[in-house]
Amino acid sequence: MKQIFKKWRRPVFSLILVSGLLVAESCSTVPLTGRRQLSLVPSSQINSLSFQQYNQVLNESKISSNQEWTNMVKTVGRDISTAVEQYMREIGEEDNIEGFKWEFNLLAEDIINAWAMPGGKVAFYEGIMPIARDKNGVAVVMGHEVAHAIAKHGSERMSLGLAQQLGGATLQVALQQQPQLTQQLAMTAFGLGSQVGVQLPYSREHESEADRLGLIFMAKAGYDPREAPKFWQRMQQKEGGAQQPEFLSTHPHPDTRIRKLNQHMDEAVKVYQQNR
Ligand SMILES: [Zn+2]
Repeated sequence: MKQIFKKWRRPVFSLILVSGLLVAESCSTVPLTGRRQLSLVPSSQINSLSFQQYNQVLNESKISSNQEWTNMVKTVGRDISTAVEQYMREIGEEDNIEGFKWEFNLLAEDIINAWAMPGGKVAFYEGIMPIARDKNGVAVVMGHEVAHAIAKHGSERMSLGLAQQLGGATLQVALQQQPQLTQQLAMTAFGLGSQVGVQLPYSREHESEADRLGLIFMAKAGYDPREAPKFWQRMQQKEGGAQQPEFLSTHPHPDTRIRKLNQHMDEAVKVYQQNR
């Protein structure tokens, strides 16, 4: 009994501390949507952990040898990240992208998925390319993934994980005392399971936010946002086929997604017309 108490006392105490801090200063604001989010870990620390894990994934994966698709992913990635960086400077949010090291890779697996880790590390799988079809389709997925990175969803989940599972320990302490658990926590927070290609679902809130920001980001880079609902329709048609598209199983239902995207379409098309 005493032991159990001892075991729980610290996390509970820290959680109270964390909730107190939360209100005080451990929040940041998501650009554009203005949503307040939990932020307990400095970006520099999150990014270095993310870069490590990204390299690990690359080392364990086969990089695509399809030059045409690879160029498409890299070109669209560069276009959108450049447009977003410029945009962040325009709205005085340059702090948000400090320490970002953009990288866009296509992995040689027939998985219908893509993901982004903190600090601008993006990966696409070959399996999503036939559904994306062209640069504009790639831009739909890219805008969404870049938005996850800009909105710091990985960092927010890592902060929650540290608060819930490691009693609000700082990342540095967590890494020293429980390196394995912390690494695992980060993988989960950044959207990857222990198996490469298995994406752990973001919350509905994060998904909708990434969709909304992604639409604006692709438009800023001169890609037509009206492609987004069409892309999600193609994804929907894939459902029920022989292969279960991971991107669907972990994301909101396409109908809901398309309806929500269309709510922001007028604004996005206006941005597109200014940047095409
Ligand atoms: Zn997503």
